[in-house]
Amino acid sequence: MSGPKNTALQAALTKIDQTVRDEADWGAPAQYIPQLAAIDPAQFAISVCLENGAEYSAGQSDTRFSIQSISKVFALIAALGRVGDALWNRVGREPSGTSFDSVILLESEKGRPRNPFVNAGAIVTTDALLSGREPRLALAEIIGIVRAMASDDDIHIDASVARSEKATGARNKALAHYLDSHGNLDSEPELTLGTYFHQCAIEMTTLQLARAGRGLAGFANAPSVLPLRRAKRINALMMTCGHYDGSGEFAFRVGLPGKSGVGGGLLVIAPGRASIGIWSPGLDHYGNSKAGTRAAALLSNAMRWSVF
Ligand code: GLN
Repeated sequence: MSGPKNTALQAALTKIDQTVRDEADWGAPAQYIPQLAAIDPAQFAISVCLENGAEYSAGQSDTRFSIQSISKVFALIAALGRVGDALWNRVGREPSGTSFDSVILLESEKGRPRNPFVNAGAIVTTDALLSGREPRLALAEIIGIVRAMASDDDIHIDASVARSEKATGARNKALAHYLDSHGNLDSEPELTLGTYFHQCAIEMTTLQLARAGRGLAGFANAPSVLPLRRAKRINALMMTCGHYDGSGEFAFRVGLPGKSGVGGGLLVIAPGRASIGIWSPGLDHYGNSKAGTRAAALLSNAMRWSVF
């Protein structure tokens, strides 16, 4: 049952949708994944779930988009469920100050990535989830968690996006082989990468994404996939590392934990208050959604949701 509607929130979303379309400052879609490069950047959607069950949207909230690095949040939840705190022996919890696909710290830090949200850390996280079993079983676990958290079985992987990335993903291949050279991969690099590319190719709408974030927002009625103690920690990582070298800027502008993907998606959590899914495929120079970040800042200001 959903609770009473918050008309101020709906009005804020409608206004934000109008504002970003009027400003038309979209940025460009990710160029290095051919399937994403072809997407029209002039698109926008936003959805919000509240604890009372009420849901709000504006823009193209029933368009599915590639969640890309937002999948790293769900893979982390799955990996922590499988191996627990032992994961932190293989990956750190500090912001990197480097771009999402950087190799630079891996050499000086001997193959232990800074955090689970840069690509190197996400590849290690997926490898921990994969270890000792077939990729399809690890993928089934990630997608099962996404579906359970969103209370929706109609969430799937677009295999053509995974293939598109595999064909062009030289940088991720380099990262995986470098991790392997430091003994920080259990599986063959190609197997771990194949799993990683497929998890990144999960497609969702902003409404499905907002629903999937309810557990991170700590809602009492969220599906019980994620213990509160773990949600707190994942929100902390999203705040400090969720936007790579743009994480400080996102915290400064929005004041909320968030995770971006190069598909232009954003999952933003206002702990105890709201779970927010945003999509606009044009990116800024960090690889984070340009209009999406603008929208998150406008919403946080309008609703006074910043944690600061
Ligand atoms: N699949 C993408 C990659 O590995 C994810 C990156 C992202 O969304 N920032 O490059």
